[in-house]
Amino acid sequence: KLKQIAIYGKGGIGKSTTTSNISAALSEAGYRVMQFGCDPKADSTTTLRGGEYIPSVLDLLAEKRRVDAWEAVFEGWNGIYCVEAGGPAPGVGCAGRGIITAVELLKQQNVFEELDLDFVIYDVLGDVVCGGFAVPVREGIAEHVFTVSSADFMAIYAANNLFRGIEKFSSAGGALLGGIIANSINTDFQREIIDDFAAKTGTPIIQYVPRSLTVTQAELSGRTTIEAVPESAQAEVYRQLARSIAAHEVSRVPTPLGPAELRQWSAGWADQLVAMERAAAGGEGAI
Ligand code: ADP
Ligand code: SF4
Ligand code: MG
Repeated sequence: KLKQIAIYGKGGIGKSTTTSNISAALSEAGYRVMQFGCDPKADSTTTLRGGEYIPSVLDLLAEKRRVDAWEAVFEGWNGIYCVEAGGPAPGVGCAGRGIITAVELLKQQNVFEELDLDFVIYDVLGDVVCGGFAVPVREGIAEHVFTVSSADFMAIYAANNLFRGIEKFSSAGGALLGGIIANSINTDFQREIIDDFAAKTGTPIIQYVPRSLTVTQAELSGRTTIEAVPESAQAEVYRQLARSIAAHEVSRVPTPLGPAELRQWSAGWADQLVAMERAAAGGEGAI
């Protein structure tokens, strides 16, 4: 049965990197996978294609009136199907509408069925600041949502906004939350911060992913870590993440923090970090 997953998170947090490695690991495990980029930048699938960009659905639609959906489907590493929704010209139209248009075009022409896919993974833009980017959650395009977040406040802030969106649409049949993919977690306190946020919002952490030079190297060579450095510890982390996503069954409604609660929570951590720094400096004569 087809499983449809959406990955959200603040811009630059590592959604496309993580998504591409999940796709690569799932495909390596024998699943039939499509990665569907929903970022108007249309750069989601580049590391699956040797660093190359593909024309987006909206690019094709801008060129001619009738587009065969198959023209927008490209094969990437290990037979992964790559699609980019793309975006409207800056200042014209709604990017969220664009996502619907792109998904509908593929559905109308039965692309998902004909490819006999096991997974479609939507790599969606950051903050759910508008109805547009809530589309994959709201319109039931995806069934499970995962968020990529580091321990940085702005990333957590974006994750919390996403949780608010999911909570809001949950009663109307929207997608539910699978969990947090904790990216760039290299220190104990980063782990404690993200763990604490997860606990407060009733959300499981699906995988901790360290920040690693291996990822940078792979990206610079236009490839995923799974493809470029398959024997690395980082590749193993992505395989573990892919296994958890493949095994994932039940998503839930998160309990986002209110604006005041979130402020209080972050202020509490600010105090705690200052105390930790003092302790690390040895206390005596530190100031
Ligand atoms: P997004 O899709 O969320 O905007 P990207 O996946 O493009 O973000 O990642 C932004 C940058 O961060 C990229 O250069 C990527 O290589 C880097 N990056 C993401 N995750 C990691 C990681 N775990 N280790 C090292 N670099 C990472
Ligand atoms: Fe852009 Fe969102 Fe407004 Fe659509 S709803 S035009 S995506 S800001
Ligand atoms: Mg991206």
